Amino acid sequence: MLLGGLAACLFVVTAWLVSLYWRIGYASLEIEFQLHAGVVCFLYLPGGDILHEGGWSMTHSESSLAKHWWIKTLDYNPSSMWMIPLWLFIVPFLLATLVAWRSKPVRLNGCIRCNYDLTGNESGICPECGGKI
Ligand SMILES: [Zn+2]
Repeated sequence: MLLGGLAACLFVVTAWLVSLYWRIGYASLEIEFQLHAGVVCFLYLPGGDILHEGGWSMTHSESSLAKHWWIKTLDYNPSSMWMIPLWLFIVPFLLATLVAWRSKPVRLNGCIRCNYDLTGNESGICPECGGKI
């Protein structure tokens, strides 16, 4: 969980860096997806666009540092576009990683204060922290 979360964060950061220099896109007849300038961009073209080239594409395209830091939607009737900044994808992974990192496995017979193993303890006092059981 911890490593997976870190790997996911690293992946998104890498994608963000790549997107500053490259425009990576995938297009089908009605839907286009693009990664560029720190933003993931979804384009929906109902009915399709015959000028559209389908499939994967990757073109060198340097961008000034990401101008879009928040979600933006554009509506060109009948098509529409959603722009989602990549940093938003890091947030859930980062939170999950932090939670996994902070939480320690809890012992079944552990002290409620310090988690010291109290199996067989008959004194009623934790030898580790001195707390009452
Ligand atoms: Zn204790």
